[in-house]
Amino acid sequence: MERFETQQPKPVARGKGEKQGPLRRGGPVLSRARRALGVKMLLATLLTASLLLSLQDVYVGLTLAVLFIMVTVVLDYWVYRAVDDLFKRLQSRNREAHSVDAADLHVGLETLMTDVFQRFSGLEALEVETVRSDLSRLRSFNNQLMRLGEIAQELNAALPFRETKTKALELSRQLLSADVVALVSEDGRRFALEGVAGCEESEIKVDCCTYYAKCPVRASFRDLEIDRTADHGCAMFPPTMRAQLSLPFKLGDRVTLSLLAAAARPDAFADLSPVVLATLVGHIQTSLTTAQKYDRIRREVVTDPLTNLYNRRFFEKRAEEEIGRSLRHQQPLTLLMIDVDHFKRINDSYGHQTGDRVLQSVARHLRDGVRQTDICGRYGGEEFVVLLPNTPGRNAVFLADRLRAGVADIIYSGLGIPRDVVITISVGVATCPRDATTVDDLIARADAALYEAKNEGRNQVCQAGIPDPPLEHAEARAPRVDRRMGLARD
Ligand code: GH3
Ligand code: MG
Ligand code: MG
Repeated sequence: MERFETQQPKPVARGKGEKQGPLRRGGPVLSRARRALGVKMLLATLLTASLLLSLQDVYVGLTLAVLFIMVTVVLDYWVYRAVDDLFKRLQSRNREAHSVDAADLHVGLETLMTDVFQRFSGLEALEVETVRSDLSRLRSFNNQLMRLGEIAQELNAALPFRETKTKALELSRQLLSADVVALVSEDGRRFALEGVAGCEESEIKVDCCTYYAKCPVRASFRDLEIDRTADHGCAMFPPTMRAQLSLPFKLGDRVTLSLLAAAARPDAFADLSPVVLATLVGHIQTSLTTAQKYDRIRREVVTDPLTNLYNRRFFEKRAEEEIGRSLRHQQPLTLLMIDVDHFKRINDSYGHQTGDRVLQSVARHLRDGVRQTDICGRYGGEEFVVLLPNTPGRNAVFLADRLRAGVADIIYSGLGIPRDVVITISVGVATCPRDATTVDDLIARADAALYEAKNEGRNQVCQAGIPDPPLEHAEARAPRVDRRMGLARD
């Protein structure tokens, strides 16, 4: 350790015979005073004796007394001179000593101050910059941690998986100060883009990871390790991107995902703390896992487990909403009520399990035969419902007949049902606001039309009320002949 040294005051040189101090025993002033005192006492004794001897002669006595006074004065002066000399010398020495100490102290202080100043100047030059950058890094780290807390809250608020994913991408892009953020999954040896923020999906070339063996993204996927590559243009991202960050994580047991970030600044991700990155990944992982569970539970609540169509309760809720919308926008909404003909016979002939498979096939056919925006449900047993927004009754009848014909064409040989056995459906059609303006009424009208179709011989479509004229290209309904299960292929 470095030490600061100061000059010690020099000892003051002393005169000969003054080694023990001027007023000590044996000092010249004291001995002179002693001698003077001795002389005075001797003279006083002599004077007294002389006065006693010369009592009759006054003049002699007076002369002796005057002589005694004069000698005393001379002696006192002699002693005074010595004392005066001594004091003068002491004073001058004191001054000298004092001035030497002050000068030394001044020089010492000046040296010390210069040294301290130089050291502080050096500190400022070398370390203040470091301290300042450390401080700003700490401040940004603190900000990132606070932002992470907010991100966790926001991610947990967005429950469905799709929304959570979109939010996670956007929030990550903000936190990482990235230009582009993508979520990529690994499916065997291939990569699939799950979402992107900051550019178009078409600008992300996920395939580059597949053919570039040393791709950092690929390595981080394999080792589940964070990778940040500065000044590296990954072909996956748009060509202007120079820095890249890969944050891989698992979703459940099988799926490996990676949050990939890219920025145009070459060292954009260099200063990001591993703690911040790991926490961000943790939040995204947790929220996506929760969102997946939420979606599954929500699906289970609204879905019929056998056919994967909406269940009756959810269908009725959706029907309520759609009727409101139809009335608000004055757009027709049509309901198809569908029932499998003579389904009891299928159960009786091929068993309940085969009956279930038939119901699944019919449901799949209905689902595939309508638009994405149409709503299919299982109303109960072997009865299905289809809600067709923005569809007038006339068009719905055409569609229903197409569905009917399609179901009749399904071949169930894989289920052990002979190829020539035809399973058919009957359909009742009712439209809002043409036939009804409430869910209950609409269902009742469609049910009544279905009952009519059954009565008319099954395997046909009946519209509630007075039927609309058929569409120009509507398929002509061919009559079916009841054979084995009740109906046989033409
Ligand atoms: P119709 O042409 O008059 O509709 O005759 P149907 O035999 O289809 O009508 P019915 O109401 O007499 O019989 C319906 C049958 O559907 C009875 C029931 O056992 C069967 N069923 C209802 N739900 C299921 C199911 O989930 N799985 C199976 N395998 N059968 C079901
Ligand atoms: Mg029925
Ligand atoms: Mg039936």
